[in-house]
Amino acid sequence: TFNFCAGPAMLPAAVMQQAQQEFINWQQQGCSVMEISHRSKAFINVAAEAEQDLRDLLHIPANYKVLFMHGGGRGQFSAVPLNLFNADVNNGKNTADYVISGAWSKAAVEEGYKYGNLNVQDIRQKTDDNLRTIVDPANWQLSNNAAFIHCCPNETVDGIEFTNLPQTEIPIVADLSSTILSRPIDVSRFGVIYAGAQKNIGPSGLTLAIVREDLLPQTSSAIPAVLDYRLAAENDSMFNTPPTFAWYLAGLVFKWLKQQGGVTQMATRNQLKASLLYDYIDKSDFYSNDVAKAYRSWMNVPFFLADERLNDTFVEQAQLHGLLALKGHRMVGGMRASIYNAMPIEGVQTLVSFMQEFERVNG
Ligand code: PLP
Repeated sequence: TFNFCAGPAMLPAAVMQQAQQEFINWQQQGCSVMEISHRSKAFINVAAEAEQDLRDLLHIPANYKVLFMHGGGRGQFSAVPLNLFNADVNNGKNTADYVISGAWSKAAVEEGYKYGNLNVQDIRQKTDDNLRTIVDPANWQLSNNAAFIHCCPNETVDGIEFTNLPQTEIPIVADLSSTILSRPIDVSRFGVIYAGAQKNIGPSGLTLAIVREDLLPQTSSAIPAVLDYRLAAENDSMFNTPPTFAWYLAGLVFKWLKQQGGVTQMATRNQLKASLLYDYIDKSDFYSNDVAKAYRSWMNVPFFLADERLNDTFVEQAQLHGLLALKGHRMVGGMRASIYNAMPIEGVQTLVSFMQEFERVNG
């Protein structure tokens, strides 16, 4: 089967096989990795290796902390303002710029309002031919007194992705939950990067935060301890018990990514997968995607059937062909194919063949 779920998403087959082999008796310890102490030497080695592999993959500069946290993407919607309004460089500034490019950046705004003053800019637009697009980051209206700028460069629900960033000295905070490790990024352009693990990294329950050191909070009094970046950094992400199994599995995924040739190789593969699918959709009158080409996501591809009455049949028949979880997000409708790193090219080819056949029979 090929699983097109937006998250929790499919993991690389080789990683799943390795995890299965090691499941009960890990490293000859006589128990599973999920049953040993996070303070044991064996686990600390796993944790440190995972961090180093991630640093290598993303070329994370030395002045960034890599934090393995709990709480998911939404936990970070709170952690970011709680920490950054207290950051050393910000001296108590409590205003931030938030841009809305889709459902997830909007959800971050709703949470962010609890902690400070937000300048919110909705950058969603339509092109002349009614395609969904966004204001180019070079043209965002940013204030000059913000502690940070929050954005979501890949909108999982909307299928919108952007890669260029505004030129600014103000720290950019990016929710990369559904695009991290899918292509190279310049970490030094960001103040904070965060990502829930359950798409391109590993099982849910683990959340990555990559934080520039000068953005660690100055005072921790108002920050829940489990969301406190400084506490996490000072305790090697082990202030409280970390999600150990998810961390171990993320480590296997990072090793797999290195074996595949790293994020540059992933980018080549991901672009190819995305263009296979978009090209077919564009050629067909039976299917459509309504995102302007420049902002189409490589990771999440929403598409619609011309006759929506066929939606349920499409999903059912796809499942019978081993193509899982194609039903679109409830806010958008239609279909959505999430094609993260672990989705092989054959998965997308099989999907396109199925779509062709479905169109031939029902078109
Ligand atoms: N941000 C993005 C871009 C997402 O896609 C999601 C979930 O799909 C979230 C945040 C929320 O993540 P979580 O469910 O881990 O809180």
